Amino acid sequence: MRCAHRRVAMVVHDLLVVGLGPAGVTAVVQARRDGLDVVAVGDEPPGGLVAAARRIENLPVWPQGIAGRVLARRMARWVRTSNAAVVQDTVIALDRTDSGIFSCTTRRGAVFLARSVCLAPGTRPVPLPPELFGLGCPVFRDIRNLPRRKGAVVAVVGGGDAAFDTALSVADLGMRPVLWVRGKVKASQGLVEEVEARRIPVAASLIPEAELVVACIGREVRDELLLALLPEGLPRDICTAVPGLFVAGDAIRGRERFVA
Ligand SMILES: Cc1cc2nc3c(=O)[nH]c(=O)nc-3n(C[C@H](O)[C@H](O)[C@H](O)COP(=O)(O)OP(=O)(O)OC[C@H]3O[C@@H](n4cnc5c(N)ncnc54)[C@H](O)[C@@H]3O)c2cc1C
Repeated sequence: MRCAHRRVAMVVHDLLVVGLGPAGVTAVVQARRDGLDVVAVGDEPPGGLVAAARRIENLPVWPQGIAGRVLARRMARWVRTSNAAVVQDTVIALDRTDSGIFSCTTRRGAVFLARSVCLAPGTRPVPLPPELFGLGCPVFRDIRNLPRRKGAVVAVVGGGDAAFDTALSVADLGMRPVLWVRGKVKASQGLVEEVEARRIPVAASLIPEAELVVACIGREVRDELLLALLPEGLPRDICTAVPGLFVAGDAIRGRERFVA
């Protein structure tokens, strides 16, 4: 039986891009420059995880750094002006037919067909056991949905760039961050110096007075669509063993996450 609300797009696009973080946006813009007919599906506004970053400092075009939110807005503009067809939705299934055409289905029931696909789904936070923190206070995974409570003590968990950057964002918002670094500090020298200059405490154990926790630890590739087509595992390169299927961004690099 055919579902009455299902909309079937008969057009076969040159390229389908899944995910509109920096990797997906770059794929859209470059493919449009090459004259391809592109449809892009992203379940968040363009920019992806970049919107959680206080400042992106490793892009040569912005040697002084650029705020993540500002960069995300620019990415949204690039996508708009590229004239690609952009859909805000989640791709829930992706198949390749015998004729080599990819068919993707979205959560809202739309179907898109394309001759090639660029998957740029980025990463998601690994679920953490609540008892890991043992404080009974709410745990957030990045700054985007952290409640703004002036003066609140916020434990920021992690020793990498994302944790140090987030601690600085928390301080900018008028809250009181305390970094909980369980192992070695892996953040870049510049971020460490900025945290020291702002006198943000770095603790080896979780402080009991924390009212909110931001856990900047444990992310994994959003691999569900990839593994459906590549059962042998995630590719280490933009090209995959499936003709016409490409992967971009953090979905390739996994543990090393960066925009450039
Ligand atoms: C606090 C913080 C600070 C950072 N600072 C820096 C920095 O200074 N320099 C730097 O280089 N990097 C930095 N990063 C890392 C950087 O943000 C990421 O490396 C980059 O965003 C990865 O880009 P991406 O496009 O691969 O994935 P993402 O940005 O994760 O985007 C993927 C997008 O695809 C969407 N998506 C996934 N699956 C689907 C689906 N099935 N259907 C539809 N949409 C889907 C996701 O919702 C997301 O919007 C920072 C990250 C954080 C958290």
